[in-house]
Amino acid sequence: MDRKRSSALFEKAVDLIPGGVNSPARAWNSVGGTPIFFAKGEGSHAWDEDGNRYIDYVCSWGPLILGHAHPEIIGAAQEVASLGTSFGAPTELEVRMAELVVEAVPSIEMVRFVNSGTEATMSALRLARAFTGRNRIIKFDGGYHGHDDALLVEAGSGVAAQGIATSAGVHPDYAAATMVADYNDVQSVERLLQAHEGEVAAIIVEPIAGNMGVVPPQAGFLEGLRELATSHGALLIFDEVISGFRAAYGGAQTVYGVTPDITCLGKIVGGGFPVGAYGASREIMQTVAPLGPMYQAGTLSGNPVAMAAGIKTLELLKQPGVYEGIASTTERLVNGLRDVFARAEVPAQINGVSGAFTVFFNPNPVTDMKSASASDGQEFAKFFHAMTDRGIYPPPSQFEAWFVSTAHSDEDIEATLTAAREALNS
Ligand SMILES: *Cc1c(COP(=O)(O)O)cnc(C)c1O
Repeated sequence: MDRKRSSALFEKAVDLIPGGVNSPARAWNSVGGTPIFFAKGEGSHAWDEDGNRYIDYVCSWGPLILGHAHPEIIGAAQEVASLGTSFGAPTELEVRMAELVVEAVPSIEMVRFVNSGTEATMSALRLARAFTGRNRIIKFDGGYHGHDDALLVEAGSGVAAQGIATSAGVHPDYAAATMVADYNDVQSVERLLQAHEGEVAAIIVEPIAGNMGVVPPQAGFLEGLRELATSHGALLIFDEVISGFRAAYGGAQTVYGVTPDITCLGKIVGGGFPVGAYGASREIMQTVAPLGPMYQAGTLSGNPVAMAAGIKTLELLKQPGVYEGIASTTERLVNGLRDVFARAEVPAQINGVSGAFTVFFNPNPVTDMKSASASDGQEFAKFFHAMTDRGIYPPPSQFEAWFVSTAHSDEDIEATLTAAREALNS
């Protein structure tokens, strides 16, 4: 496959932008080679600058659950953009969008829109500290919550791929207030809460881990966190930036029946535009300015174009059968890949939930960051390149989710499985 233009653009980009990318997960550090520059997307497909077509399983890292350039989403954004892109004053679209989010997510009675998942988690932590009057937080090894200082500790895929435990430049005082427990290990959380009784403001967790690769919560894990948070007076924050509107319309909290105190949203909620959100009960959200003493703001927050795309996305996702379709597509891919790997006698764990899965080159179950890290990176890198050369675009790291959209067709599934079969044989 000829990727001359991608190579030329990358050569120019590395001179101008650190690593040639505006987000490190786009670099191919862990698989080697030159990132593909994309020019166009439609449905489940994306075309690179050299005109090669790929079945896309990155889907912008999650937002594109309805595929690229969905005509109704683009139409809504275009229509609203022509009326003005931002006012710095309230618009009706924000109210409609808030209504949809409150209706969908059980833990949210009031919501504040921001511009990214990072802003959502950063604000949620500030809110938890303001509400509880406590300073410490507990996160999980391999949990990624954006690049807020306090959360860049043992932060999973993107960070792990650079071989960094905690980012340089994070003030040691911020990092010190962040304590790290093990995913799917309730006792590791209980120990921290007991050792720092009365000091923990919040436990922040991806209810379905997505940034060490997909790792579902084991039975009792989320329930255990809920009980511990309540009994120790800490808030439970679900970072549903990936799982919100993906695992189910109401997010992972409706799938597992565990209700957090604060929920963070992002990715899908912006329909491909920059949007994040955090929400909670009325009581907790009354801490946020201008109602309360916790300040948080944004010049472009809730801007009409992003709101219009988000609203259209949620309206389309609400249609009957959408999540059944996503679940069935994911299941066929996961089962198909398991079969392909088994036949090729390549040991692998395909962890999946509805809408996302990860291929771990690992003979043992992957249940936390430690077991995920034991996966074979070199084998994944070979597989990744063999797939991209066959027109399939998986995430360029083993510790990421492959995202499924409503646009992935039966034909796409077949083509993906055929490519995987060839890749493993090559
Ligand atoms: C992507 C992600 C974030 C950060 O969102 P950005 O929009 O990239 O800032 C936070 N939490 C989780 C779970 C994510 O996957």
